[in-house]
Amino acid sequence: MSETLSLVWLRRDLRLHDNAALYHALRSGRPVLPLFIFDRIILDNLEDRHDRRVEFIIQEINRLRDELAQMGSALIVRYGKPIDVWKELVKQYNIGDVFTNHDYEVYAKDRDKAVCELLAERGIGFHTSKDQVIFERDEVLSGSKSPYTVFTPYSRNWHGKLNAFYLKSYPTKQYFRQFYKTGALSIPTLDEMNFRPVGEPFPARTVADKLLSKYGETRDFPALRHGTSQLSIHLRFGTISIRELARQAKKADDRTFLNELCWRDFYFQVLDHFPHVEKHSFRRDYDHIKWRNREDEFEAWCRGETGYPIVDAGMRQLNTIGWMHNRVRMITASFLCKHLLIDWRWGEAYFGKKLRDYDLSANNGGWQWAAGSGTDAAPYFRVFNPTLQAQKFDPKGEYIRHWVPELNSLNYPQPIVEHAMARQRAVDTYKKGLAK
Ligand code: FAD
Repeated sequence: MSETLSLVWLRRDLRLHDNAALYHALRSGRPVLPLFIFDRIILDNLEDRHDRRVEFIIQEINRLRDELAQMGSALIVRYGKPIDVWKELVKQYNIGDVFTNHDYEVYAKDRDKAVCELLAERGIGFHTSKDQVIFERDEVLSGSKSPYTVFTPYSRNWHGKLNAFYLKSYPTKQYFRQFYKTGALSIPTLDEMNFRPVGEPFPARTVADKLLSKYGETRDFPALRHGTSQLSIHLRFGTISIRELARQAKKADDRTFLNELCWRDFYFQVLDHFPHVEKHSFRRDYDHIKWRNREDEFEAWCRGETGYPIVDAGMRQLNTIGWMHNRVRMITASFLCKHLLIDWRWGEAYFGKKLRDYDLSANNGGWQWAAGSGTDAAPYFRVFNPTLQAQKFDPKGEYIRHWVPELNSLNYPQPIVEHAMARQRAVDTYKKGLAK
């Protein structure tokens, strides 16, 4: 191929509308071909070959293929180690520039650096943009110009800065004629990558204004089918635009919902500024806690057989549909860290395997919050009481009965630990660890 192309490397932004990197590629003046790489380094490590995320990506890649085909274009899809794929691509195509959107995970930053160097050796530009968050890196800093480590002042500043400029869409559609004209290119199938379909439909890509107008009242009740947006998988893979969603929430005047998007930005900037959180406690002294790490108890928690109905309901929801309500994520995570004194990293990894919306930044943030080791940690002596939580947030027991139908039968296990004892044990263990 002799024509010089611009490639746009899609990763967490599987859409053609309002996409920063795509917009810049389309305006580069060269014909544009999108690219997606199924990263073998990540995929080969997934034990369960029924993976909702891989299935979702395939579904969305095929949708993009159809949208591009209607314009006489296509997308390149490869399965391999990104650096190896790029080595092939630079031989196969005449590439002038590569455009992509920022990714804040340590692995991704290292990957992008290596690709950038490879391309630079060949005189190919590597241009990156902000796309998956509203504010990134140093855009929201404290008065002393340092990153925030507590959510409330961050959110105040975030809401204050949120204006039409930051929420403007990238009008990609105006430049769609720039897509390179070519016939369809092959796309690896689930089977070729050794995955099997789960076969369940994914949540809708949109949120109703109706939900946004009452989200503050419904969001904490897991029994409500539509109490929250269920948009997390779409935000994770960028099948919706964060700017469009924030605009919609702003228009509906839903500050509570906007605040959730703010938490999302907050955890991305924590990961970006404090990459040690991926393996260690944000507050280093919490690494001294002596976890009990009983494997049998961990397995009971994973299976949803702790004898605490709200915990078991949450874990079974996770195991069955790959999603768990936020309130119940908080309860199950707290139970693992505090009641069972199991290292938060074990729970984080388990959620990482099962969640269809798994995102390192939010998951790590949520787990460190529950363990008390994170940015906004509640004092360690505040231990959720799962029974009271259930009474408050599932007052009729509907959520619990749905996921734990055998609750009132002899088959349901006795509580794995007694609450008052476990609470005191957690407080004592934390106190001892933090005194080191
Ligand atoms: P909604 O309530 O409708 O919220 C809208 C969007 O806001 C969500 O889709 C999400 O993108 C964002 N959001 C909401 N709450 C949070 C939050 N606390 N932190 C960051 N972003 C938030 N969220 C993930 O996207 N991926 C994860 O891997 C993840 N792991 C978590 C682990 C724990 C232990 C906890 C306590 C929370 C975790 N969350 C995670 C945050 C939250 O539970 C989910 O975003 C939410 O349940 C997704 O459902 P929804 O789309 O209906 O959310």
